[in-house]
Amino acid sequence: MNNENKISRRKVIGGLGLGLAAVAMAPVLSAEGSPKPLSFAPEKLTDPTTKYPRPPFNGQTQPWPGLTSKMNPVPDHGETSYKGSGRLKGRKALITGGDSGMGRAAAIAYAREGADVVINYLPAEEPDAREVIALMKAEGVKAIGIPGDLREEAFCQKLVAEAVKSLGGLDIVVSNAGRQQSHVSILDISTEQFDWTMKTNIYAPFWIIKAALPHLQPGSAIIGTTSEQAYDPSPDLYDYAQTKAATMNYVKSLAKQLGPKGIRVNGVAPGPIWTALQVTGGATQEKLKNFGGMTPLGRPGQPVELASIYVQLAANDGSYATGQVYGAAGGGGQP
Ligand code: NAD
Ligand code: MG
Repeated sequence: MNNENKISRRKVIGGLGLGLAAVAMAPVLSAEGSPKPLSFAPEKLTDPTTKYPRPPFNGQTQPWPGLTSKMNPVPDHGETSYKGSGRLKGRKALITGGDSGMGRAAAIAYAREGADVVINYLPAEEPDAREVIALMKAEGVKAIGIPGDLREEAFCQKLVAEAVKSLGGLDIVVSNAGRQQSHVSILDISTEQFDWTMKTNIYAPFWIIKAALPHLQPGSAIIGTTSEQAYDPSPDLYDYAQTKAATMNYVKSLAKQLGPKGIRVNGVAPGPIWTALQVTGGATQEKLKNFGGMTPLGRPGQPVELASIYVQLAANDGSYATGQVYGAAGGGGQP
């Protein structure tokens, strides 16, 4: 509903003294009193099995961390499809990994819902980040990029401090950045690789949430990106999968710790989603060619298909959800 309609509706309620239920059923009256139809255009039913590309996909690889624009097909993060309705007006959000994949979908959706947003990403991802920032700015909100490596505690602290300063506060933290590399055997994982995965996926959220907490008022929301891997790990994701179990677990313990303070903590558990992470060592070429093909919907998810979950978990009307993990995995996986 646009502002004009909101004002008209208020005038109708105040002026005519109608009951709310009656107003909800009636067509909205314009200020002049002539009937004005609600502006909800009917949408066609879409078949989720054919809504987006299905395998087989071309084998492809990019140097990590990869660029979403170079993927074939290019993922849908909601650039042209996500429509907002002011659900996050006035909110101030920090999203890690906001340049691509789920983080980008969340960033675009948050901006379209009226939130000011800071995204973090790696310096090599500047081209992806610039695209997201331009899309967010087009919504008339504050959109700020802060590049840097989350494996450093000092950077995580600086990131939060700069986000708070540039947004004038903080009330949504989306800890979404992640590192995933496929290794056939545990014997192929070096201590350095193991440490890299743990630092990115477990330490960084710990450091970021610690730094953010003193700024979060009651009503704020923390959202972690976990995975179906937390519940049903693949054999080639030994190190990654256990970090996603840790994410699911911290969501639940922190929700208990912060519930009495009025701060909600929830997780999103994606299934196979078509993102840069998968074409930069996250999946084998064999897995990539049939990516998502094993799910009941027969295809991978697109980042935009999770955007509304990130919105729902941050929005005021989701106020009884805390310690929850919401999934989107095409019919397989948990929760
Ligand atoms: P993505 O590659 O588009 O996003 C991951 C982002 O993490 C990168 O864009 C990068 O900016 C950030 N990142 C990685 N290491 C970093 C570091 N050291 N410092 C700063 N930023 C760093 O891929 P995605 O699939 O959208 O991943 C987002 C989240 O979704 C991750 O936590 C991932 O584990 C999770 N996830 C993905 C899938 C999937 O199938 N794609 C499934 C389940 C969960
Ligand atoms: Mg990226």
